[in-house]
Amino acid sequence: MDRTTVADARREESVGKQVRLQGWVRTRRDSKGGFSFIELNDGSCFGNVQIVADGALANYEADVKKLNVGCCVTIEGDVLKSPAKGQATEVKASKVIVHGWCDADAYPIQKKGASFEYLRTVAHLRTRTNTFGAMARVRNCVSNSIHQFFQEQGFLYIHAPIIGASDCEGAGELFRVTTIDPAKPPLLEGKIDYTQDFFGKPTYLTVSGQLQGEIFACGLGKVYTFGPTFRAENSNTSRHLAEFWMIEPEMAFHDLYDNMTLAEAFIKRLITDALTKCPEDMKFFEERIDKECLKRAQSVLNTNFLRVTYTEAIDILLKSGKTFEYPVKWGIDLQSEHERFLTEEHFKNTVILHDYPRTLKPFYMRVNDDGKTVRAMDVLVPGVGEIIGGSQREERLDVLEERMRETGLDPTAYWWYLDLRRYGTVPHSGFGLGLERVLLFLTGMSNIRDVIPFPRTPKSAEF
Ligand code: ATP
Ligand code: MN
Repeated sequence: MDRTTVADARREESVGKQVRLQGWVRTRRDSKGGFSFIELNDGSCFGNVQIVADGALANYEADVKKLNVGCCVTIEGDVLKSPAKGQATEVKASKVIVHGWCDADAYPIQKKGASFEYLRTVAHLRTRTNTFGAMARVRNCVSNSIHQFFQEQGFLYIHAPIIGASDCEGAGELFRVTTIDPAKPPLLEGKIDYTQDFFGKPTYLTVSGQLQGEIFACGLGKVYTFGPTFRAENSNTSRHLAEFWMIEPEMAFHDLYDNMTLAEAFIKRLITDALTKCPEDMKFFEERIDKECLKRAQSVLNTNFLRVTYTEAIDILLKSGKTFEYPVKWGIDLQSEHERFLTEEHFKNTVILHDYPRTLKPFYMRVNDDGKTVRAMDVLVPGVGEIIGGSQREERLDVLEERMRETGLDPTAYWWYLDLRRYGTVPHSGFGLGLERVLLFLTGMSNIRDVIPFPRTPKSAEF
């Protein structure tokens, strides 16, 4: 008999079919009539299927009556219409095979209402909980939508390298990649001699695939990367990981406004797909994690993103009459409290802030005619704050070189990046979307460590 998923067995159309289900027991309860109900989950959907195991089964006393949470089983039987409320079907078992027993008292995730902090310490088992099952399915759905969205629009998927020699964001939050023995490094004039390292120069895990994305965009038009990125930010916030997944489209001939239009369509597509393809999981997040999450998602979907300059935003913050922990003045980097005031209190909407002071942003963003601001954009969503950072790129060779020197970078180290401007330069734009920030937004989960399978944060890389 072919394997059937719990998701299939739960569908009304399956009534009358013979099925073979395989998964983990969530609960067992015995009825007075000498039979038992087993709730079975296999990860194929949020809900369980109810198994009715009759006392007439050969191993009823020996096995069925010993099943409890965590046990792994194969169950064969017939799908029946369920008389119970809230489920279309149930499965009458004709055979129960136990693969793995589970000591309920010792089972690390047995307790109901275990905190997310605790579940992080048992990340190898938390996949069997409702929350992390739902999370895995929504994450999968979003990942799939990302590819679909760009593929439908004719973007090429580019695999950016994980190891590189440049610090694209200029923030210095880099993880070094080396094969040098820390106990006896080769020295030259008292310093480590990286010419003797594996790549012959200092190398790092990538903080962004953008520069390589630009190489492909400046020859092939519209491209995107989707991969892990690494930042050694020792910040320990609920919105930062040391390893996170970023989607970075890069488009030739797109200006900043084209970039905004694409970002809006993209985010809306991810939301639409999550709501339509994972309704059960999203309902769970609304019921159990954040009552507002579906409403918030709908409202982002149904309103046009506002476009507001950094300078206008500063004016609004100054006139708000609010006292912020970080005082507001033109030139400051906006903090989460400022972003939240703008999206959640003032505009009550998604806001694209653009044209930031040049002093705040990396070298590659296009300088405006005012000389003071650059063509940067951040997309801020209610509940999370910054979800996208992007810009129109500087395509003018001389301005770019000047910006590099200004930010302390050596133009000769970026000769290949400058060549893109030297030979057939092209106006172009792109942005980076943090996958985990999208998931925070969709699910209402409050800590980014709980929307990635294996969080990497300061002092934490167990699993
Ligand atoms: P933030 O100000 O929130 O630290 P950033 O300005 O450093 O973000 P960018 O360099 O613009 O971020 O990166 C693009 C996107 O990648 C961000 O908008 C965000 O969605 C995501 N992102 C950045 N840093 C992290 C991180 N440490 N963990 C998870 N996602 C991140
Ligand atoms: Mn950052």
